[in-house]
Amino acid sequence: MRQQWVFFQPCGCPFGVLEAVRFPERGAGRALTRSEAWREFYETAAERNTAMDRGVTSELMDHDVYVRDVYPQMLSSAACPHKTAA
Ligand SMILES: [Zn+2]
Repeated sequence: MRQQWVFFQPCGCPFGVLEAVRFPERGAGRALTRSEAWREFYETAAERNTAMDRGVTSELMDHDVYVRDVYPQMLSSAACPHKTAA
């Protein structure tokens, strides 16, 4: 089954996504663990720590949930709904 690790800004806006299950077509698929996902998403430990300190969070979700609930917010036209309008 296809799953995604989705990365969220501290406000709750998604900003990144990672394919969580590798080679599901070979039947050997398992989702990356959270730490594996973070290591893959952020190249260096410094970047990872900075993101963690900023309050970035991550969530593992089924692909269809991602497409339905998260993808619309990933589009560049989507404004952050968590801030009051400037
Ligand atoms: Zn937001």
